[in-house]
Amino acid sequence: MTTDLGAQDLTALLDSARQDYSELAGRGLKLDLTRGKPSPDQLDLADDLLTLPGAQIFKAADGTDTRNYGGLNGLLELRQIFADLLNVPVGQLLAAGNSSLELMHDAFVQALLSKLPGAESRWVDQGPIKFLAPVPGYDRHFSICERFGIEMIPVPMTETGPDMAVVSRLVAEDASIKGIWCIPKYSNPTGVTYSDETVRQLAEMPTAAPDFRIFWDNAYAVHHLTEERVEVADVLGLATAAGNADRVFVFGSTSKITLAGAGVGFFGASEANIKWWLGNLGKRSIGPDKINQLRHATFLGSAEGVLAHMDKHRAVIAPKFEATLRILAEQLGGTGLGTWTEPKGGYFITLEVPAGTASAIVARAAEIGVVLTPAGATHPLGQDPDDSIIRIAPTFPSQSDLEAAVYALTTCVKLVGYEQRQK
Ligand code: PMP
Repeated sequence: MTTDLGAQDLTALLDSARQDYSELAGRGLKLDLTRGKPSPDQLDLADDLLTLPGAQIFKAADGTDTRNYGGLNGLLELRQIFADLLNVPVGQLLAAGNSSLELMHDAFVQALLSKLPGAESRWVDQGPIKFLAPVPGYDRHFSICERFGIEMIPVPMTETGPDMAVVSRLVAEDASIKGIWCIPKYSNPTGVTYSDETVRQLAEMPTAAPDFRIFWDNAYAVHHLTEERVEVADVLGLATAAGNADRVFVFGSTSKITLAGAGVGFFGASEANIKWWLGNLGKRSIGPDKINQLRHATFLGSAEGVLAHMDKHRAVIAPKFEATLRILAEQLGGTGLGTWTEPKGGYFITLEVPAGTASAIVARAAEIGVVLTPAGATHPLGQDPDDSIIRIAPTFPSQSDLEAAVYALTTCVKLVGYEQRQK
């Protein structure tokens, strides 16, 4: 370990980092590691969708003319495929538009404006309400709460999910806490998968609020990076068995299975919640894009078909994750300047740097043309109290751009880290 460096060694390391940095600055880099987007190579895997369902093909399995209005629940054949993958009974799973994030946004709007099953009143009539936000987490979740003035209470993430001692204490004592954000598998950005025990506790824990909701955003349900297809426990089933069927809202989508801008989003919940949802949805829409749902059902075929397709994604992106981890280890291993996650799936690697350095690192990277997700984005209101978390999104850049960007990032980590030590 080089953490107990003498002053001379430290000066040498800092000099070398400064030299590497100025060399990189001279290269005129233009690299982007910000968002978890599929690469063009991944999108190419779903090229057939551009020609499906095919000329004159518009009938669903039950004879529905998908070109017309109607069918609020979404196409049965597609719901059947995803019922298995999202662990929701098919009768309680809806197929919707192209984004699950908009379903999450809708869920807040509807819960604010129309009384949820089990609620005493609408959320908007209950005074200030709060949500639990496991951190580090997903910035777009937090932006939804921020937008509606819902206070977020950060809860630390552990290796097995949110710290359940904190969660169960808070929800038991405070009826104004209305829910929790959860990304149960290959979490954004830590890659953590919730343990069976965490899921059981979430499903069973007593809550002071009768209208408490788990926003179960299973965005990475089938997004494996290794041969192991990690499973997560059936939260809706467990909650139902515990008498808390209405507690769970399940979200998912094909955004990172097929086409990120033209996929299909899913919403699953108890029968009472689905009735409530459809009642509200009926005022908003006369039915989803069933042609897109038909082309997805044809293209994917079955749950097995989805998994086989995800193997192709893995072949494209696993090498990018491997390269990122290799460069992090080569450049930062043993320096004491960073630790990082090694996810088995999902879209992100979390790099933890010494407290007080993350924003400076991101700023120095931007100065040499490497754009990173803003430091703090993984925390409510964009404020990471330790200023130590950097999210790396390896999927979108080409392999060579990615490797250049990660190397540049590690150079900035050294530069800022050694500067901080010298102070
Ligand atoms: N949830 C999580 C956890 C995500 O990481 C993302 C995309 N980065 C989304 C939701 C967005 O999903 P969609 O494209 O279905 O709106």
